[in-house]
Amino acid sequence: MTRIIYVNGRYLPYSEAAIHPEDRGNQFADAVYEVCEVREGRLTDETRHMTRLERSLGELGIPLPMSRAAWGRVLRETIRRNRVRHGLVYLQVSRGVARRDFYFPSPDTLPTVICLARRLSASKSEALAAKGIAVVSTPDVRWARCDIKTVMLLPATMAKQRAKESGANDAWFVDDEGFVTEGGSANAWIIDREGRLITRALDQSILPGITRSVLLDLLKREGITLIERPFTIPEAQAAREAFITSATSLVMPVISIDGKPVGNGAPGLIAQQLRAQFHEAAERAPV
Ligand code: PMP
Repeated sequence: MTRIIYVNGRYLPYSEAAIHPEDRGNQFADAVYEVCEVREGRLTDETRHMTRLERSLGELGIPLPMSRAAWGRVLRETIRRNRVRHGLVYLQVSRGVARRDFYFPSPDTLPTVICLARRLSASKSEALAAKGIAVVSTPDVRWARCDIKTVMLLPATMAKQRAKESGANDAWFVDDEGFVTEGGSANAWIIDREGRLITRALDQSILPGITRSVLLDLLKREGITLIERPFTIPEAQAAREAFITSATSLVMPVISIDGKPVGNGAPGLIAQQLRAQFHEAAERAPV
């Protein structure tokens, strides 16, 4: 099957698709993105993802290239043309093409829009969740606006690569005061001895995860106590359970942190239960 990618209004085979070398996304990481889950032929949490995309664009002063309805059509058409029933859809918007210069180009510069969709193996991600993942901590060397979902992902790339080389699956960033900010591409959570969920409150040091926000709704519904506060690596290592959340990993149990087992070193019951229930709280729109 020929895979198709959307670039600036056209659906093209990968071999024919191209971005200008002087795209600001390429030269300055002057671009934002979103990743949504596709599950059983449905799009998960489209509304919240599009709201966050519009916010990211607004924070960077990139003009909104299209309406909500048009985003919806691009996402769906890309999913359909790539016959993705389970996987992800990725949308990226840069400030557009201009002669290399730090200053913003003229306001009539058209943003560059890219959309791709990719299959993921449902059984592989379920197998990983049944096993749980290992994480390693690393200093958070990212910028001070991690609440904006930009493509400036080099610190995450470095951290995740180092995690992989040390035999772990992901990295947890730690701030200057010793508190966990978030995962390399996910929000970080722990569960204390009393069964209360703890995750860092939203501020400019972390991405306001869509999976995080849906999980908050689920917790309310289930009457599970949530405490929004930062936690340290030693506290997480001594926790009853730990997990991460993201659109592609959903609720993913963490079984070790810096080589120390969390709980009994197996996926926690609460994390597994929240994973199983997650889509009851999520928005699931037809493609
Ligand atoms: N934090 C970071 C740094 C991320 O890259 C991601 C994944 N995009 C998340 C958190 C989780 O966000 P979401 O639940 O919207 O996928």
